[in-house]
Amino acid sequence: MVSVQRQINDADSRVVSFADKWKEYRTRRLMFYLSWLVIPTVAGLLESQYLFIFAGLCFIVSTYRFCYWHCPKCHQYYLVKKYRSNFLARKCLNCSLPLWGDK
Ligand SMILES: [Zn+2]
Repeated sequence: MVSVQRQINDADSRVVSFADKWKEYRTRRLMFYLSWLVIPTVAGLLESQYLFIFAGLCFIVSTYRFCYWHCPKCHQYYLVKKYRSNFLARKCLNCSLPLWGDK
């Protein structure tokens, strides 16, 4: 697989492959959706105000981590460009790298 072979230099000059970056993106996206769906549902079922506070904190942190993930190609935010953002974007808003792409 070609995408596994291609590597980039991360901010701390550690060599990271595109596949690793996409795996990180997938994890952040999963945490984002879980913070939307699972944690508030469980908090509602258990009627716990502390779980609602925890859910709110998880939502804020996961949204930040998901939306401000850096594109593996251009190293700018993948889902944010200046004053607009689209968390359902299928390509980088800065360099048009397609989702799961390696070029
Ligand atoms: Zn990009």
